[in-house]
Amino acid sequence: MAVLKAIKLMNRDKEIVFKCPRCGRVFKKSKDYTRHVNRAHGHLFKKA
Ligand SMILES: [Zn+2]
Repeated sequence: MAVLKAIKLMNRDKEIVFKCPRCGRVFKKSKDYTRHVNRAHGHLFKKA
């Protein structure tokens, strides 16, 4: 599983969002964030 920690932010609508520290993308759901990390940065967690 991904271990890249999301940055939690509050958006204009006062909702907590999850920001990817790696590429700066923002997600409203932690689930979407996790999926993004696994997809976009998953290679970081694979064993060499
Ligand atoms: Zn990212």
